Amino acid sequence: MMRQYELVERVHQYKPDVNEALLNKAYVYAMQKHGKQTRANGDPYISHPLEVAAILTEMRLDEATIAVALLHDTIEDTTATRDEIDELFGEDIGTLVEGLTKISKLDLVSKRAKQAENLRKLLLAISDDVRVLLVKLADRLHNMRTLSFVPPEKRARIAEETMDIYAPLAGRMGMQDMRDELEELSFQHLNADAYETVTQRLLELSEKNSGLIRKIEIELEALFEEQGLSATVTGRQKKPYSVFKKMQSKSLSFEQLSDIYGFRIIVNSIDDCYRALGIVHTRWSVVPGRFKDYISTPKQNDYRSIHTTIIGPSRQRVELQIRTVRMHEIAEYGVAAHAVYKDDDGSDSGILPQDSNAYSWLRRTIEQLSIGDNPEEFLEHTKLELFHDQVFCFTPKGQLIALPRGATPIDFAYAVHTDIGDTCVGTKINGRIMPLVTQLSNGDEVEIIRSGVQVPPPAWEEIVVTGKARAAIRRATRAAVRKQYSGLGYRILERSFNRAGKSFSRDQLGPVLHRLGFKEVEDAIAAVGRGELASKDVMIAIHPDHQHDRVPVKQSTSDEGWFNLRSAAGMIFRIPGRSKASKSRRDKKAANAADALPIRGAGSDVSVSFGAAGAVPGDRIIGIMEPGKGITIYPIQSPMLTKYDDEPDRWIDVRWDMDEAGSKRFHSRISMNAINEPGTLAEVAQTIAASDSNIRTLTMVRVADDFTEMNVDLEVWDLKHLNKLVTSLKALSCISTVARLYE
Ligand code: MN
Repeated sequence: MMRQYELVERVHQYKPDVNEALLNKAYVYAMQKHGKQTRANGDPYISHPLEVAAILTEMRLDEATIAVALLHDTIEDTTATRDEIDELFGEDIGTLVEGLTKISKLDLVSKRAKQAENLRKLLLAISDDVRVLLVKLADRLHNMRTLSFVPPEKRARIAEETMDIYAPLAGRMGMQDMRDELEELSFQHLNADAYETVTQRLLELSEKNSGLIRKIEIELEALFEEQGLSATVTGRQKKPYSVFKKMQSKSLSFEQLSDIYGFRIIVNSIDDCYRALGIVHTRWSVVPGRFKDYISTPKQNDYRSIHTTIIGPSRQRVELQIRTVRMHEIAEYGVAAHAVYKDDDGSDSGILPQDSNAYSWLRRTIEQLSIGDNPEEFLEHTKLELFHDQVFCFTPKGQLIALPRGATPIDFAYAVHTDIGDTCVGTKINGRIMPLVTQLSNGDEVEIIRSGVQVPPPAWEEIVVTGKARAAIRRATRAAVRKQYSGLGYRILERSFNRAGKSFSRDQLGPVLHRLGFKEVEDAIAAVGRGELASKDVMIAIHPDHQHDRVPVKQSTSDEGWFNLRSAAGMIFRIPGRSKASKSRRDKKAANAADALPIRGAGSDVSVSFGAAGAVPGDRIIGIMEPGKGITIYPIQSPMLTKYDDEPDRWIDVRWDMDEAGSKRFHSRISMNAINEPGTLAEVAQTIAASDSNIRTLTMVRVADDFTEMNVDLEVWDLKHLNKLVTSLKALSCISTVARLYE
């Protein structure tokens, strides 16, 4: 356990003129207040504030921050009050301790709306003074390090909150080490199985490659020395969570992950960074696409380094980060690096943490709080921003637009203005026309090409990464779809009223809305368009005495009605009537075109089939969308279509992709009345065969004294062919009527 005198000694090391009295006073006060309280592991409570303070000494923070760390749980957990702390330690420290007390009460993994509100409070609290955030993160880090002592049912919530909020926040503030450790610790608790597996594999690997890291370090250092460059090289094996994350994001197996090793090369100046880069690139081959220069273009959180991957010593793929001492400090401590106590070497740029890029991100985010009124949208927005690195792009006028990594020109357009997003139809990136799905890179100049009439396609929702763009697309899509449906609904109502000899207007709906269960006229009309409200129900509501004249759907032929021609008692009679020639012609074509039907308008990815009564080229046809089945084609005359009268959005406009006979036969159905006399059936069958049609089935539907009704399922080339056959059948003396059947 950390002792008070050790703590003071640590601060003393980086700040010789430390105000020891302040640290001691804070320690004594906290110890008295926490008294006999203990931690979950049985340690005296004071060990926790001491450890939190110790974490902050690693970042070389001033004594006020260290004192706040010692006091951070007093107001919340003891009889201490803000007034008392103000009086003893001054208002500055009092404000900070109170800020931490407020944060500790926020539940950041509760229901979404609540969570958004709490996240907002958290950001507001830390935006006042960066030290609140630093102490809070150190507090959370120590709590995560000792999480295994906490009852299991509480662990998941704390780990989740850490993974979702605090780790990304630390990363966003540039505190890489803090973020890594928070993530690794949360990962252990949130996904214990994955943690176990990855850790085990890393262990096996480090045993197999024992000494490899040191070997590469030595080889790199020797190379730099040879070239007269002073550099410190430190290698490390990647941590379980970072390996796991990479496996997930790139869907790689552990074996496929080749860059398990990372090396840092720390040099004295920016010039030396590029020299070091030149040296390694000259000596070893470079893995393409892995070079990134964050020195010339720093990350939004002030991170600077050169990244490259080489096939290094021992043919091992090695990731290198090249940076100066100062860059390294910022990479490790982020926003805290600016708060670091500085001795008089004056090497620092002297920016205050409040002025750092990372901190100005925080301020911008908070500004958006006042613009956005929807807490959920804010949450989505902020969370996404927390999780992503950023890219910086420019408008043609030079305005800087910061976007999360992975952002597209569509995100860019929405970031500039919602109207620009809504009317965006194309983009030029750095002067060249590019697809709208292009991922933007740092420094891109993005020009948005707009159109006056445009509704953002709903599919964009899947492409964009910013919450703002997603919310705007959703809104615009909803409005457009609604407009479409209400237009469609209006036409349906108009038509169905006309059919009934009545006329329809919007005003008629008003008085009957309540009966239909709607509050707004437009809602009811849109519901008709969507097929949720039947036009006949609207008709009945407005004209209660109107008899809705349904198109009589013919009774489908029941089993009892079917007769077998051969047995005379009755079942289906099948004629194997295909001639050899036509069969082979048919099969050849089928082999060519598989199941492809010559239907235009259905789209190639949808499966298309025909209704039971078939359809032939030349028929006017309609496609009906059947969920889970595809499109079923019916001739326009088919009574089956009345079933879908009230669902016009299922109707698909389709056409034959051929005018006349192709090389495939199509199915259709006819009905005949034949005079009962010997030889009739033979005559019919012969006529059909002579016309180059096939009979699939022939059914005797009704047998009376004088007449027999026959239904024949045929295969013909097209409508012309069918009509010709019908004419020949009519010409037979034994046939009284012939008609096409559409169901
Ligand atoms: Mn605490």
